Amino acid sequence: MCPRCAWQELHRLATSPVPDTWEVWQCTRCLYTWRTTEPARRSSREAYPERFRMTQSDIDAAPEVPTVPPLAGDARTGTESR
Ligand SMILES: [Zn+2]
Repeated sequence: MCPRCAWQELHRLATSPVPDTWEVWQCTRCLYTWRTTEPARRSSREAYPERFRMTQSDIDAAPEVPTVPPLAGDARTGTESR
């Protein structure tokens, strides 16, 4: 269950190269992402802080995530483009 919005459909993004150490999960509704070894307040619905919880209407009203602006210069050399 998603700690933030209580959604049941989760997607496993990553698994530790060391077996049974940790997994990274993402909520398919609110996109909250957490590692299983994070503290309960970040990884468990029961302990997730009330003020950070989201409902479907919160998600619908959330502003768009800003896009990444174009690079100011050449990332390989660090020089400014003109
Ligand atoms: Zn969620």
